[in-house]
This record gives sequence, C-alpha cells and structure tokens, in this order.
Amino acid sequence: MNDVLILGAGPAGISAALYTKRANMSTIVLHNNQSNLQKAYQIDNYYGVGKISGKDLYQKGIEQAKALSIPVFEEEVLQITEEEGFTVTTTKNVYHAKNLVLATGKYRKLPSIPGLKENIGQGISLCAICDAFFYKNKKVAILGEGEFLHHEAIILQKVTSDVTLLSNGKEEKDSISKKIENVEVSSGVVVTFEDHTKMTFDGLFLAYGVSDIDTLSSTLGIMKEKNFIKVDENNQTNIPGIYACGDLTGGTLQVAKAVYEGMNAALAIIKKEGKK
Ligand SMILES: Cc1cc2nc3c(=O)[nH]c(=O)nc-3n(C[C@H](O)[C@H](O)[C@H](O)COP(=O)(O)OP(=O)(O)OC[C@H]3O[C@@H](n4cnc5c(N)ncnc54)[C@H](O)[C@@H]3O)c2cc1C
Repeated sequence: MNDVLILGAGPAGISAALYTKRANMSTIVLHNNQSNLQKAYQIDNYYGVGKISGKDLYQKGIEQAKALSIPVFEEEVLQITEEEGFTVTTTKNVYHAKNLVLATGKYRKLPSIPGLKENIGQGISLCAICDAFFYKNKKVAILGEGEFLHHEAIILQKVTSDVTLLSNGKEEKDSISKKIENVEVSSGVVVTFEDHTKMTFDGLFLAYGVSDIDTLSSTLGIMKEKNFIKVDENNQTNIPGIYACGDLTGGTLQVAKAVYEGMNAALAIIKKEGKK
C-alpha cells in the first residue's frame, strides 16, 4: 500500500510529490503526458525560470521528481474506486494508496475551425491572463461563448480598448455572431467569415472554458462547483483522503496556483499521517 498516489505530473502533481516524498512517504506519480502546460508556447511569468516553453517546464518537473527517486509512470488512469484505501486502475497496472491527490488538470475545449488549433502560440492564445500583457494597445479579438467569453474580455480590456468579441454562430451579447470559415496567421491573425468578409487582428484569444473530463472523480461522488472540484482549505475534497489541486479546482488557472495547491495538499497529508 502506497502512502500517496498522485494522478498528474503537471505543476500541481509534481509539487505535491516533492513534499510527500521528502517527508519519507511512499509516493507514486501517474500521468498520460497530456498536460495543459505542454500546450503553453512560452511561460514567462513563473518565478525563477525566465522564459521557458511549457513542454520544457513540464519535463523539468518530471526530471526533478525522478531525481528524488519518485517513480513517475506514463499510464492512463482508467478507474478509481474506494477499496483497500483507494484503488487506481490504469492501462498497465493497479495501484493501492492511503491518500490520493487528483492533479489531472483541465482540457480547454476548442471549436473545429481550420487554422485555429495549428496556430496556438503563434498569435492565437488560450489564456488571456497569461498573454494579455503582450497585446498592450493592440487590436485583439476573443472567440468564445458564455461566461468565459465575457470574463476574458474584462481581462483584455484592461490592456487595450480595441477588443472584438466573436461568437461563431452563437448569439452572445456585444459580439459578432457570424460563423467563421477559417483563421490564418500571416501578418496578423486573419479571420474569414462564412460570408467571405475578413477581419485582421494582432491577436486572437480563445475563450471556450474547460471541458468536464474528470468523470473519473464523478463516479466517486466527489463534489463539484461550477464544473470544478470543490476543496477545503487543505485542498481536500468531500471524500477524506482524496485531495485535488491545480486547474482541477478552478480559480486562476496558472502554474503558480497549481504549485501552491500541490504543496498545500501534500502538507495536509503529511500532517494527517503524522510525518514531518
Ligand atoms: C496555451 C496555454 C498557455 C498557458 N500559459 C501559461 C503561462 O504563461 N503562465 C502560467 O502560469 N500558466 C499558463 N497556462 C496554464 C498552466 O499551463 C496550467 O495552469 C497548469 O499547467 C496547471 O497545472 P496542473 O498540474 O493543474 O495541470 P496540467 O499541467 O494540465 O497537468 C495535468 C496532468 O494530469 C495528467 N492526466 C490527465 N488526465 C489523466 C489520466 N486520465 N490519466 C493519467 N494522467 C492524466 C496529465 O498527463 C498531466 O500530467 C497556460 C495554459 C495553456 C493551455
């Protein structure tokens, strides 16, 4: 029986692992190599690392854990049950642990518009709070829907007054609702609408929120609030022994917050188990 099983090797999961391992708790990290961090073209706002690609930062985290002899296995988690502590079934193994840390992040939804996915990081951004800084007084558009569209608009309006909302066929307040045929990045981001008219922007932000892929946790009866896992001040869920941290718990979806919450969950586990 392991002391701690951590699902996710992004900033939240690795941060938790560093603390529990250093408190002499047997710790295993599982991941499927699909982190939001790997999609970040460049991280420029995290303490001490300067400019670094998301892919490199993700890898560095895993290397740091492995250097502490923490096993980090690439295995897709398929099922979690409450047996013998907690039982986690992956594509390759079955693990048992006294404590579980969920740090599986959140995938961002994307509409299937040609030119969108392939140009992320090249003038197309998934995160206003991360990249607004680069668009001071520039002409930007936000493509999205619902609450998230308007939330991202508020962030961008703080750096530029030239913000256009696009909603690709959906009726959204204050937006251009024409369907989009494709997006190209040449000198600027060129959006072509279904009626063949075009608009060019310095940057395009996507605001489709995050999709609820954490069905794994739903089967356990873990409580959520607005599609994010609800945790207490120790990052513990409503099920004792199951903790959640990072993007999964909502709030500000940033590396710094994920790292903090990983530490917070780990310290709570260490205290609960009477370790130092
Ligand atoms: C394009 C983009 C740019 C960004 N730019 C910045 C930035 O500049 N600064 C900043 O601070 N933040 C930025 N972010 C946000 C940052 O990447 C996230 O906040 C951070 O990665 C969250 O960490 P996490 O550990 O919660 O989740 P993630 O980093 O998403 O890690 C999730 C982990 O869970 C694993 N996992 C998921 N499902 C399973 C499963 N079923 N089985 C096994 N493993 C699983 C994955 O393999 C991964 O290891 C950006 C995000 C994006 C998408």
